This record gives sequence, structure tokens and C-alpha cells, in this order.
Amino acid sequence: MKWIADCVIVRIFSVPLLLLLGLMFVHAAAYKSMAFRFNGQDYVPIGDWARANGLHCVWLKRGDEMVATNRATRLVFDVNSHYVEINGVQVALSFPVANQKGVALIAQFDLEAVVRPLLFPERYVTPKTIRTICLDPGHGGKDTGNRVGWQFEKVYTLALAGELRDQLKKAGFDVILTRTRDAYVELPDRPALANRRGADLFVSLHFNATEEGRGQVAGPESYCITPVGASSTNARGEGSDHGPVPANRDEDESLLFAYQIQKSLVGNLNADDRGVRRARFAVLRDARMPAILIEGGYMSNPFESKQIYSAAYRRQMAQAIVKGILAYQRLTLPSPPSISLPKNHPAKSGGKSSANQ
Ligand SMILES: [Zn+2]
Repeated sequence: MKWIADCVIVRIFSVPLLLLLGLMFVHAAAYKSMAFRFNGQDYVPIGDWARANGLHCVWLKRGDEMVATNRATRLVFDVNSHYVEINGVQVALSFPVANQKGVALIAQFDLEAVVRPLLFPERYVTPKTIRTICLDPGHGGKDTGNRVGWQFEKVYTLALAGELRDQLKKAGFDVILTRTRDAYVELPDRPALANRRGADLFVSLHFNATEEGRGQVAGPESYCITPVGASSTNARGEGSDHGPVPANRDEDESLLFAYQIQKSLVGNLNADDRGVRRARFAVLRDARMPAILIEGGYMSNPFESKQIYSAAYRRQMAQAIVKGILAYQRLTLPSPPSISLPKNHPAKSGGKSSANQ
């Protein structure tokens, strides 16, 4: 009989509920009017946005670092930073977090292109069965990729791809590779193969190197396509063309995919988190499926390079990538068919639990 009691309670509270709805409407109107304009972008107060989405928001360091939390979610915003930490993973924003007279602000653009898809994935993912995965070992043949001492990036991307192919096949996926030997493959041919073969996911594999801070800079980075109208995280030489490319059609799913991969790599390898980043790489631009590029670590870092050159570590890295793929796959599963319940059953009248993850 509990559901009858619930119905009575709903009736008793119906007037206050209407008042609450009215207040929410007024609040929404006020929230809209609180837009700030910087660098040609609309910014909104993080606190207002967080409260409207059921998150509790406080300064961790007044004026510098703000945290928004609920039972399932923790977001950390650093003023002037181009990154937001989402449940422990750094994710690149297109515009920096700002502080206007003590009010922390985020670009509306980033709320829509980054924060919302990661917080409410079920609204952005089309249910789909993932069968075929296209792996793209970076470089090959005359293109060595990064070269550190006598070590060539192209050797280790191929070795990682082989390990990953074996593990993915064991997990039940079909796998295609853009190259299986030390051969040169043009960049546009790589996503073109994935498109032609109807791959459900595209994963380009690379290893990084840097001249500056060789001893300090380490850790994986996961890239997905840059949103239309924004600059890439590494915009060097990209030019000013920020228009749409075919991969923008799947940009929300690619972001969710990159996020799951980065989270798994950092968590399972205990590596430094260099973040989910955005780029219009040639191998990503034309992909017609969720597509990412993994920089698995820095060959220029004396410690990390030893790991990259070790088959045992690459096996662990492949395991972490498989776990990330399975985590992304769980997001794409069709929702279970709803069980038919009697009319007025409490499970029917009860509110949905928080969608935040
Ligand atoms: Zn590379």
C-alpha cells in the first residue's frame, strides 16, 4: 500500500511543488541573464550551473580553484586553466576558466562541448553494438615518427597494435589494422580504411617525445576531434580553419571514448595524467565513427621510455586500452527493456536516480 501513501504525499505537496516549479522558472530566467562575455564567448557562473544540475559548489582555494560535487561526480575548475578535472581525469577545455570579481566562470561553449556529454553520456551516445575495431599503428616505413637515440616510434606503435589486436580478439572483437608491417601508409588512407570496412571504433596509436623538460614530462594523452569553432589543444601549425570536418559528426561519442581510454590508462598504469585533448589530426578528421589518437607516453622521458620499450609494459598498456574500450562499450549498450509494472507501482512514480557519472 506504500504507493497509495506516496500518491497522497504528492497531492499534499502539489501546491508547494507548483511554487517550486515557478521558482525554478524564475531562477532559470535569472541564470540566463547572468551571462558574461569574454573573448567573444558567453561565460556563465560555475556555481549557478552546478546548482541547477544538483551539484554542491565551493571554492577549494578562494579565487583559484572551485569544486562541484554530488554523490557520483567531482569536478575541479582552476581559474585561467584550459583543463577541468572530471572524476579524476583532466579534460581540455576550448576556453580557460575565468574569475570575474570573485565569480568563477566557464564558457557556455565548453559546458555544451565537454562537460555535459561527460556528465550525461546517455543523452549523447547512440545505442550500438561494437563489433569491429580499426587499430592504426602510427607512422611506418620512411616515416619513423619520433626518434630518440636509436629507438623509432614506428617500431613500438606496431608492437603495441599487435598486442592490442590479440587481446581485443580474445575479448570477442573483430580487429583490422591500417598496417601490419614496417610500411608507409598515407595519413588519409588510415581513416579511409576504417570507413570502407565499416569499423565501429578507430584507435590511432602513437608515442610522444619532447625536447623541453625531458625528465619531467611523462604520461599518456588521449586525443579526439576538436569541436567546430574552437582551437585545438596543440594548435601549432593548425591554421585558422576551424570549420566542420566529417569527424565532428561523432565528436561527443569520440570525447566519451577518449575519456574512458584516458581514465583507464592513467588508473591502470599509475601514469601521469596528461589529459583528454582535442586535435584535428589528419588521421582523425575523416573518420566516420568514434575516433581517438592515443599518445601512450613519452619516449623522451628516461623512465617512461624504458617502459615503452618493454613488452611486459606494452601488454599492460594494451590491457588498459581494452578495459577503456569495454567501459565505452557499456555506455553504448541499448538500455535494458523496461519491465512492465502495474499502474501506480512505486517504481513507476519514483524519480530517476541521478544521471551523473
Ligand atoms: Zn606519432
